[in-house]
Amino acid sequence: MLQSNLYPTADLRAADARHYLHPFTDHKALAEEGARVIVKGDGVWLWDSEGNKLLDGMSGLWCTNVGHGRPEIADAVHAQMGELAFYNSFFKTTNAPAVRLAERLAAIAPAHINKVFFTSSGSEANDTVLRMVRHYWALKGQPNRQIVIARHNAYHGSTMAGASLGGMKPMHAQGGLPIPGIVHIRQPYWFGEGHGMAHDAFGLQAAADLERMIRTLGPENVAAFIGEPIQGAGGVIIPPATYWPEIQRICRKYDILLAADEVICGFGRTGRWFGSDYFGIEPDLMTIAKGVTSGYLPLGGVMVSDKVADVLVNLGEEFYHGYTYSGHPTCAAAALANLDIIQREGLVERVANDIGPYLQGRWKTLADHPIVGETRMVGLIGALELVPDPKNISNRFTPTGAVGSIARDYAFQTGLVMRAVRDSLIIAPPLTLTHAEADELVRLARQTLDLTYEELKRRGVFG
Ligand SMILES: *Cc1c(COP(=O)(O)O)cnc(C)c1O
Repeated sequence: MLQSNLYPTADLRAADARHYLHPFTDHKALAEEGARVIVKGDGVWLWDSEGNKLLDGMSGLWCTNVGHGRPEIADAVHAQMGELAFYNSFFKTTNAPAVRLAERLAAIAPAHINKVFFTSSGSEANDTVLRMVRHYWALKGQPNRQIVIARHNAYHGSTMAGASLGGMKPMHAQGGLPIPGIVHIRQPYWFGEGHGMAHDAFGLQAAADLERMIRTLGPENVAAFIGEPIQGAGGVIIPPATYWPEIQRICRKYDILLAADEVICGFGRTGRWFGSDYFGIEPDLMTIAKGVTSGYLPLGGVMVSDKVADVLVNLGEEFYHGYTYSGHPTCAAAALANLDIIQREGLVERVANDIGPYLQGRWKTLADHPIVGETRMVGLIGALELVPDPKNISNRFTPTGAVGSIARDYAFQTGLVMRAVRDSLIIAPPLTLTHAEADELVRLARQTLDLTYEELKRRGVFG
């Protein structure tokens, strides 16, 4: 008997509304509607408590890279808990799974990155980046280098530093963010902001904003630039090929640290181990989380290049920073078992050479739909932009976002989990997706678009 069958759905919904404050949720609206109760996951499939089967097009929340229900990870966690469920890494102690994981991560990271600082989440990891880059410059005798440059519509988590580094206006509007010392430049969002420019020219133009900002602030005051190789929560924004090399060139020119937030792009999502590999950049720091454990247990970290690590290690002085669960042995054991699966099943190569190109080809076929303005995908991360007239993509639905949520609700109804960002639909399915499941995903996505189109016609959107 499933654990969840012990609790009738109606009781769960009522108790949920009474006691459970959900993340990123309008609580009043949820209480009226009642939460969907997910009870089981297997591979790319989910089941809810009413028996509906859903194709998980979002890998949980961008993390279940090896798919749901892998017994190898459960077994590794069980074994580790039996031996040593928890011990800390403060006070000159360590534990085998954390050490093995650090070694393993150094082996798959770019050659110049060989150390890791562990956290329990991506948000904590980005908080660590902020503190670490300021500490680095202080140790180097340049304490004025305090400012971190990030981008509008970026997502770097939900803690004070994470939300401040992120460029989400609604988040900044609550609680007086961003905190001091963080500024934002434009994003490389061609569909939304390219205004018909050639992709490559637009990529260079968006990157030039970084140089302008550095000169305005004075390079002697700038510590680092941070960006997601592909913006995830911002709407799967895939920058033009010219963008990242130019960002790297500018960072090097002004001796500014480059931090890549690999929380979504890492661990095979793009068909390379990291998004930085995909775009050919060499960041000084990389934030990891999500796919490192496929979400089976919480774990994140900051991967640190030799250049930065040498200063942190050799210039001495304690770095007064860390978390109780930094290097948690059971979470590390889950990560090791997850990396075993990724490597044994060749999932990174599979995304590069097999299922990635296959799903990309199928996804592109949706471009002929009467409300699709653009389809895009790298590896297994993609988006559909919904517009009222694909022949004139600068026209948008008004108000923005309403059509996206209608489509997202239809997706759930047809049996596909997609997420809506503004009026785009985004997907990032598990890397284990089969060809047949990819066909099914695209069939359900088309059905979603048809249902949305019919609904919009009923509402008179097309006059
Ligand atoms: C999810 C996410 C984070 C935050 O990770 P949490 O584990 O939710 O704290 C940070 N950066 C990116 C790019 C993310 O997608």
